[in-house]
Order: sequence, then structure tokens, then C-alpha cells
Amino acid sequence: MKELQQIQRLFPSEDGNEDSQRHFLSLIEMLVKNIDSLKNPAQTMLGELKEKSDDYYESIIKNSETPSKGIALEEVVDTLVSLSEGHPYQTRNYVTNAIPMASIPGLLGSLTASLLNSNGLWDVYGPAAAEAEIKVVTMMSKLVGYDEKSSSGYTTWGGQGAVFTSLRLAIAKQFPHAKEEGIPNNLYCFASENAHYSLLKSVEATGIGSSHLITVKANPHNHAMDLQDLHDKMEQVIVQGGIPIYIAATTGATDSFGIDDVKGMKEIADQLTEKYSLNSVYIHADSAMGGMYCVFNEYDFEQNPLSFEEEVKQGLMQIREKMKYLHVADSVCFDFHKLGQTPYISNLIVTKNGEDFKLLDLQECETPYVGNRGYGNYHTSYTLECSRMGSAISIYAALLAFGIEGYQQILANYVRVNHTFRNKLLANFSNVAVTNNHNPGPATAFRFYKGLPKWEEECEGRMSLKEINETNKWNSLIFEQIGAERDKVFFGDTTRHCLVDVVDKEEVSPISVVKFFSISPYTTVETIDTFIHFLHEQIKQVEDNEGVLSGV
Ligand SMILES: *Cc1c(COP(=O)(O)O)cnc(C)c1O
Repeated sequence: MKELQQIQRLFPSEDGNEDSQRHFLSLIEMLVKNIDSLKNPAQTMLGELKEKSDDYYESIIKNSETPSKGIALEEVVDTLVSLSEGHPYQTRNYVTNAIPMASIPGLLGSLTASLLNSNGLWDVYGPAAAEAEIKVVTMMSKLVGYDEKSSSGYTTWGGQGAVFTSLRLAIAKQFPHAKEEGIPNNLYCFASENAHYSLLKSVEATGIGSSHLITVKANPHNHAMDLQDLHDKMEQVIVQGGIPIYIAATTGATDSFGIDDVKGMKEIADQLTEKYSLNSVYIHADSAMGGMYCVFNEYDFEQNPLSFEEEVKQGLMQIREKMKYLHVADSVCFDFHKLGQTPYISNLIVTKNGEDFKLLDLQECETPYVGNRGYGNYHTSYTLECSRMGSAISIYAALLAFGIEGYQQILANYVRVNHTFRNKLLANFSNVAVTNNHNPGPATAFRFYKGLPKWEEECEGRMSLKEINETNKWNSLIFEQIGAERDKVFFGDTTRHCLVDVVDKEEVSPISVVKFFSISPYTTVETIDTFIHFLHEQIKQVEDNEGVLSGV
């Protein structure tokens, strides 16, 4: 049975013997050391950026084969390290999007979940995942201002999964028999034009239909939902016989960090449902991006114990003014794999009324293998997933290690860094506008012009479609140039930061912008000059290529 012993060497020991432990730790050490050796803070990649030829993936397909005989673990580690070559890494120069460097507590939690292989489905199989889940749901419930005794929640597959789950709840609350009978064909959902596309996919998948997702206008200055437009569109739907069932409140828009007014939305929804004798409309705060800022709900800005500078304090107070109403929503979510500093996938959905999950639950007889026993009393048969990874353990570790204060420090630093970046950008370029300057937060969206900035005019609908398109094209050229150099400084960009009216047509036009998303703990106010210098060089390059007089 020597062969079987070889196979056993592929597993951790069953008795904790030191020999086996040393072997395992040496492999982990090798992995960490070799990845570390690829690091360079002046770059945004591990090792060299891999340029991919057009047939790159084709050649992978041609050459990929499962080996008939397994290779040595040391060789496996080498291969894993080579996978990481050219991989983006969140150094100080990494400012493309909310993809954090996984923190050490987050990694330790994730490793624990993997070592135990803890399945969140049922506490008999995954007691660690189940217990951590109940703990983190309670912790976050308290932070948003829910009553932790009646709220509930679980970890799911991202902000997208939270939107999907909340939509299922919204349907079940108004139509408890929809599970058996299917849904009526006159249901409607509402979300801002700046909402994440998660809801679009969810209305498709639930069978509501994407033409029943009503897009509500947003204010181009602060990118928050226009409440009058919400009111008018909801009323129009109702008058025509539709039933509004769900509103997504984008609380921290992915690109602009615009924050919808959840309290105002709730008031409008209640007023309309009362007027027309309808059931209450479900509100999900899509706080995947912004939810972590609720750690400031209880911060004493007057005493200011963490000594935040005046402008940082002002920014944080402005964010809190909106975030403090998250608890008005029926559910909220937290993408810990964005501003919560844990590895993928770790998202938590928390609902105000935990009883609601019963509406989605299966009958005991429908889950014959799990749950229905005298032992074990945490069985999440209401989730769309069956087995669930124990990402709550990673979230738990991060919440413990950072504490509220640690999160306050890192989230405030994003505001600080963005404030400084905006000032330096505007001081250094006469041809740029910050298009989310009313939104303090972790992101800055900015747009270059061939001459002086025309953002105010664009915002107010005073530019023609052609003029806006030309500026969009100019920015696209800049995206290409900046993107080609992303191994040095990794900016983001988006072709639809927001929509604006145009003067000459009954149309709206998308706005293209470059995006600076400060996510690395190593991006500080001292590192901002690098970004400005980099932008100078890239813009000059584009202007030279295009024969445009420098606007600097
Ligand atoms: C990122 C994001 C999502 C999607 O979250 P995933 O974790 O990628 O599924 C949904 N809504 C908002 C506002 C987001 O920023």
C-alpha cells in the first residue's frame, strides 16, 4: 500500500504529527516567499506584466492536459507562483477599482475556513462557519442600526447575490405563493441610472423581465437618485396597473460614490402605497460598496478622537449624513471583498426582519440529508446556494483585527487621499474636471477636455451630443494610453460614469471618465505626486500623438 501512502502525503495529517506539519508549512512558506520576491512598490504587478498575444488563450487550450501521474508538491507551488507573475497587486500605485489587497486577518480567516473546510449550510457540518456567520451578522446589524435580535443574514456570492436574494424576499413578501405558482406579470422594480447592473440580471433571472426595471434619473452633480423622478415613475406604474415591489437604493455608487437618500425613498414609497392601498415596497440598500462607512455612525466628530483633519472630517460627516439612514432599508449588504479588506468571495446580506427568510425556506421533507435532525439547529435552506463557503470566518477575523477604529482609520485615509488627489489634479491641469467633486469618498472620477473644462455646462444639459461625444472620444484615447502603462500606475476608467441631458436632442449622453480608486493601504497623501507626474506624461503623449496643443 505504498501508493496509498503517497496519496496520504497530499493531505494534512490526521494526528497532527510534526513531520507532516513541517512539510505543509514549508510549502506555504515557499509560496509566500516566492510571491513576495515578485513584489515591487513602484509597480502595480507582481513581476512583469504579461503581454498577451491574440492567440494566448488558444495556445493554453492546446497545451492544457491533466497529468497522468501527479507532480511533486514543490513543483505545484512553483507552478502556482508562475500563475501569479504579471498579476495585479495592490501597491500604492494601484488605483483602478475596489479590489483590495486581502488583509492578513482576512487571509488567516480564509485559511481557517479552508483548513476546516467549513460548510456554512448546516452547523453540524460547518459549526465554525455557522457560528462566525451569526457573530458577523450581529456585529454588522448593530453597526447599521438594526435590532440584532430580529435581524438576520448570511454570506452570499457578492453584492450581486445580495441583490438577488433581496429581490426574492421582495417577491415572497408580497406574493408568498409565487414560489409554487410563479410570479404575476405586472411587477416592477426601480433603481437609479447609476445603480449596479446586478439588479438588471436579477430581474431577468426572477422572470420579472428587464422591461419592468424602471430606471430613475440621478442628479448629475452628486449622482444620487432624483426622488421626484422616483415618485413620478412609481405613480405612473401604479396608475397603469403595475405593482411596485422593489427599490434599490444605491448607497455608494460603484464609480462616483453617489449615495441615494434611503430615508427620502422610503417616505415616497410609503406615501404612494398608502394613497393607492398597496402593500409596502421592499427597499434594498445596495451598500456593497459604501456600507462599511457605517463604522462612522457613532463617531464623535466634535471630540474627534482620531484627530482627523478638518477636510477629512467634513467629508466623513457628509457621508454619514446619508449612511446613518441605511437601517431604514429592509436589507443592506457589505462587500467585505471591497472595502472590508478580505479576500473573495465575502459578502454579507443583512435583513431587518429575519423572519422573512422563512418565506423562502424549503419544507423539511425537501432536504432529506441535512437539517431535519434533533441535533444541529442552524440550517440555511433558504439560500440559493446549497453548500456555502465559510467566508464569514474571514469576515470575523477582519472585524476582530481591525476593530471599528481600524476601519475608521483606513476608510478615512481613502477620503483624505482623494481630497488631496483632487486638489493636486485641479492645481496641475487646467483641462480637467472632477465629475464627482460633491462626493467625498474612496473614488475620484475626472474627465479631460481638449481646452478648458466644460463639466458644468455638460451637467446642466447645455452641450450638444456631438460635443460630449468628442470629449468622450478624447478621454477614450487617454484611457488607451494610461491602460498601456498600467504596470506602473493602474488607473481605472469608465465609459458611463453618469448620464447627462444634451441641448440639441431628446436624449441623454453617457460621460466617460478616468477613475482613481484609492484602495491600497499604502496609498497615502505622500504618494499623490507620483499620480500627477504619471498623468502629465501620459496626457502629453496623447497630445503629441494627436497634435493637440498642451492644455497644461
Ligand atoms: C460591486 C458592486 C456590486 C456587485 O458586487 P459583487 O460582489 O461583485 O457581486 C453590486 N452593487 C454595487 C453598488 C457594487 O459596487
